[in-house]
Amino acid sequence: MNNMNNILHTILPLPMFLNQTAEATPMYQPSDLVGLNKYEMWWAQFFTYMGDPALATAVLVFLTHEIIYFGRSIPFIIMDFTPYFNKWKIQPNKIPTAAQQWHCAKMVLFSHFFIELPVMGGFHGFTSYFGIQSHQVPFPHWTKMAYQIAIFFVIEDTCHYWFHRALHTPRLYKMIHKVHHEYPAPFGLTAEYAHPLEVLILGAGTIGAPIGWVAYTKDLHLVTVLLWMTLRLMQAVQAHSGYDLPWSLRFIFPFWAGAEHHDYHHKAFTSNFASSFRWWDSIFGTDTAYHAYRRRIDSAKKGKARELAQAEEDRKALIDGAREAQAVIDRAGK
Ligand SMILES: [Zn+2]
Ligand SMILES: [Zn+2]
Repeated sequence: MNNMNNILHTILPLPMFLNQTAEATPMYQPSDLVGLNKYEMWWAQFFTYMGDPALATAVLVFLTHEIIYFGRSIPFIIMDFTPYFNKWKIQPNKIPTAAQQWHCAKMVLFSHFFIELPVMGGFHGFTSYFGIQSHQVPFPHWTKMAYQIAIFFVIEDTCHYWFHRALHTPRLYKMIHKVHHEYPAPFGLTAEYAHPLEVLILGAGTIGAPIGWVAYTKDLHLVTVLLWMTLRLMQAVQAHSGYDLPWSLRFIFPFWAGAEHHDYHHKAFTSNFASSFRWWDSIFGTDTAYHAYRRRIDSAKKGKARELAQAEEDRKALIDGAREAQAVIDRAGK
């Protein structure tokens, strides 16, 4: 096993925080490490250093969650304090203050440490029972990761639609979901600003999709779960950002919900219950008020454009008239 550690510590320079001798663990055989890329090698080093796959999994899941959640929120916080981006703000008169952002960050951190961390701590135990691969290398082929993540998106969106719709029934709304609706104009950090029970209820789709998948297929790697979490968190923060940016995925894939779809849900306190896609709201008619609103906005914009065009024509006509009058005066003067 010393030989094993030597391989792990000499093939690649270890990141500083890992640059210690790990307890010998029988996680890998030397032949397991042949032909790995540098990311797979770091993965093997990390698990060897931690010595306990359950602990290593909890640390990876928690760190990924924190880095992506706050990392993805930072660009939107910067936009909130940069007037240039106001043209893409969906509710331009409702820019969150620094105090609101800080209040939200504190609440979210509390929820991350006291609600989500205990769940993450149990994730390895739960999924290893069903045969998840955690410390194993190499990683699955990227095509397998891609189709599994696509399936998780569909499962999560479906769960989210129904659970979220249930949370809007009067009793559950008052008891639980009202907290998340404290901000009628959401911003990135509000994505997980919610009652602890809601964190568990709506988190069930995010964490339940991979658990259900591995229970059914026995074919899932932890690295796929981390990538799934990363993309799902990026979607959730972006949906709450309050910015309908020109490079939003919704302009490429019309079924992608994006910020504009969920922003209306916060503004109107109803409609648009899904998270990532627009199809469930469309199929079950829970987006009719949203479409009526969109039509009003679009026709108001068209009306405004017509008014502007008319004003421009009037302005040109006035200038032409003034020129002609000047020409008549000039001719008379001669
Ligand atoms: Zn809601
Ligand atoms: Zn929301």
